[in-house]
Amino acid sequence: MALDGASVIELLKKNLSAQSQFAVPPDPQNSIGNARWTTYKAPSFSATVKPANVADIQSAIKYATENGIPFHVTATGHHFTGMFEKMKNVLEIDISSLKDIKIDKAANTMTIGGAVRTSIGGCSTTGIVGVTLGGGLNRWQGLYGLMIDNLLSVEMITATGELVKASAKENQELFWGLRGAGFNFGTVVSATYKIYDARSGGDVLIADMILPYTVGSEIMRILKGWEENQPPALSVAVVATWNDEAGGPCFRVGALYVDGIEEGKKHLQPFLDLQPMVQDIRPIPWNEVNKKWLFGIDAMLGAYGKRRIFYSGHIRRFDNPTFEWHFAELVKLWEKYPAARHTLLVIEDWATKAAAEVPDDETAYPHRDIICHMLLIGQSTDPALEPMLEEWLKNVRARYQATSGSNPLQVYISYASGDEDQETLYGKSKLDRLRGLKRNWDPKGVFNFNNPIII
Ligand SMILES: Cc1cc2nc3c(=O)[nH]c(=O)nc-3n(C[C@H](O)[C@H](O)[C@H](O)COP(=O)(O)OP(=O)(O)OC[C@H]3O[C@@H](n4cnc5c(N)ncnc54)[C@H](O)[C@@H]3O)c2cc1C
Repeated sequence: MALDGASVIELLKKNLSAQSQFAVPPDPQNSIGNARWTTYKAPSFSATVKPANVADIQSAIKYATENGIPFHVTATGHHFTGMFEKMKNVLEIDISSLKDIKIDKAANTMTIGGAVRTSIGGCSTTGIVGVTLGGGLNRWQGLYGLMIDNLLSVEMITATGELVKASAKENQELFWGLRGAGFNFGTVVSATYKIYDARSGGDVLIADMILPYTVGSEIMRILKGWEENQPPALSVAVVATWNDEAGGPCFRVGALYVDGIEEGKKHLQPFLDLQPMVQDIRPIPWNEVNKKWLFGIDAMLGAYGKRRIFYSGHIRRFDNPTFEWHFAELVKLWEKYPAARHTLLVIEDWATKAAAEVPDDETAYPHRDIICHMLLIGQSTDPALEPMLEEWLKNVRARYQATSGSNPLQVYISYASGDEDQETLYGKSKLDRLRGLKRNWDPKGVFNFNNPIII
């Protein structure tokens, strides 16, 4: 049904506690949750409700489902899938009040609210639960696995507003599906994880370097050398970018070693041999990694309100000629279109050992054999260039698909651009089981705005 924001809010006000907040756009100043990481293909909301607590979220979801009002749950507004473009004038349920963190030191567990922001994902502005529900790639995964591999239980609100638990003991099948396809079944209000004692007194080694663009092949030779046996505590990001201060095209390389400072330094030599133009190598407390890593790239990558076009490439084996081709194409693009110089490539070469050791059928996440994820981000100060950038990025993705062991295409659900099919996102072998779960928990498809399982 078409949403009349003002009347929906009037009705919600009668059902939710007085501490809940409400806003009726179009006045953006008046909206609580409209801030988005990318404003490209962004959703539009006719009204926003920010429930004060779990019971209020239950009431809001129940009310919306019963009245056929399309709604979407927002925790941080970080997600970028182009599919959100189809979300027009829906009710936004902003769950950002769910910020509790409880640590049980004796049990080595942490229980957090559904909107707590992360300090171990790729940047500090994403939600821990939002990142987890797709799988949860992270720079500790070579030692501890994906974030789903450390998830012990969740409390989730269903499409009908019920609060249910899922774990290895309760609703086991749902728990299986939540770990990799978790945007499909409900709204997770709290999640409990295993936690670990900090290693090396809590410090990790970060090495930030700026390298000349001429050494792209050598950088890829280093990554290729680790293809079979990357040290489990080592993660490396390579960013091919335009940087005026560095004289144009350059590579930012950020290495992180999370199991001993001296041990970590041994792995850096191949990069140092390439004579970085700038380097900053030092131990820092583990929980400062996101803010400080890669010369503080978090402030740029995590910033809200930019028009970013996002595609993703997946690597099972490094085909270095493809990377060399891509690096050269980037230069052509930057030189021809100065307005598009924020277009960049991020190669996330995180160690995979512990994540790959978890049996594939243990969780719904289907990409345990992928060794590297790439963020293909297009950005232009001139929106007229965006259709060209879309095509350019798709062409890059197709090239990696053809050469890098990921054919047919595989895309991590949390990096989906919105044009992928079901098998690409959920994996052929998992789809039937996931469809069964979707039929059970969300038969009307009320949680269907984010690349859903189609039943
Ligand atoms: C800069 C950047 C860095 C990233 N780094 C990583 C990374 O290191 N590892 C990784 O795996 N992914 C990463 N991602 C992708 C990220 O996992 C997804 O964008 C994720 O959906 C973000 O969740 P959110 O809650 O922050 O965002 P939102 O936009 O608030 O939510 C995204 C989607 O998740 C759903 N959702 C959010 N919270 C809940 C909840 N509690 N219960 C049910 N559904 C929920 C929302 O309904 C929405 O559909 C990154 C993204 C960006 C932009």
